[in-house]
Amino acid sequence: MKAMVLKEICEIEVKGLGQRQFDLPFKKEPLEIVELPKPVPEPGQVLVRISACGVCHTELDEIEGRLSPPVLPLVPGHEIVGRVEALGSNVTRFRKRDRVGIAWIYSSCGVCKFCLGGFENLCDEFRATGLDANGGYGQYIAVNENFAYPIPENFTDSQAAPLLCAGVIGYRALRLSGLEQGQTLGIYGFGASAHIAIQVAKYWGCKVFVFSRKASGHHQDLAIRLGADWVGATKDIPPERLDCAIDFTPIGEPVRQALRNLEKGGRVIVNAIRKSDFIPELEYTEHLWHEKELKSVANVTRQDAREFLSLAAEIGIAPEVQEFRLEQANQVLAMLKQGKIRGAGVLLIS
Ligand SMILES: [Zn+2]
Ligand SMILES: [Zn+2]
Repeated sequence: MKAMVLKEICEIEVKGLGQRQFDLPFKKEPLEIVELPKPVPEPGQVLVRISACGVCHTELDEIEGRLSPPVLPLVPGHEIVGRVEALGSNVTRFRKRDRVGIAWIYSSCGVCKFCLGGFENLCDEFRATGLDANGGYGQYIAVNENFAYPIPENFTDSQAAPLLCAGVIGYRALRLSGLEQGQTLGIYGFGASAHIAIQVAKYWGCKVFVFSRKASGHHQDLAIRLGADWVGATKDIPPERLDCAIDFTPIGEPVRQALRNLEKGGRVIVNAIRKSDFIPELEYTEHLWHEKELKSVANVTRQDAREFLSLAAEIGIAPEVQEFRLEQANQVLAMLKQGKIRGAGVLLIS
């Protein structure tokens, strides 16, 4: 099978604390097209022929060495949509030709206190798709049937792809934020995840303020079209204090800005596996006093994926996607790094 693989980490030079790295160009094209053997489904697994895979910022973390893949070469990608082509023994949930999605959670142990308590996202044995196991930048993947999800009919393959990470993790972040109907939500960074999360927050009747690198541009235009009540730059003061905020950016500064703009008793959720620089120093009175909280969101559970896919169908979420061919993955990643993707980038695989 054809796949785009990462053979070595492209380490980025860090020139001191607080250095913004996201707009540095890649030193070379990080992924290479290769021919790999087609996976054979083990007992309990389904073999999926992939038709679309979303491009996520986490791939940049892998390529640039902030998240180390245990084994190279690696097929990245964890927003996978395709059809079941073959079944391993003992598969009961799916049949051949079923359309399925695969998300960031590839497997977990199933027996530890986290797995048993509904926090399989925190399992020590958590394995991530496209990091600990080969992912979706290729023609095929084999996965345990319990870690694949039926895709609601409302979505095309490429629309469904970003729902599987950007959507699901945004949904988990919204849940962890404690956002309630009618409250005010701040969103920092307006990429793939945020543009889906805003549609959920608006559905819940919330007021949404969107902050991004620049005060105007295509991210802001999209935010306004999707119902943002105000848009501004990262350091701007919003018209009202924020009951909750979600930081979707890869950098540290927005965390401090969000804490400053928070209402008393509010909570900031940081949705990033790694930050490319440090969170600047916090001043206790301004950023944390009055019971302000700061919490990260780590990975997703299968329940998040199932709940979110059905909510997305109910709301009629319309992911904004830019489609590319698998072979264009390097170009898409460079565009993502420069903030040039509108909504979510998706690779179409044939
Ligand atoms: Zn992702
Ligand atoms: Zn576990």
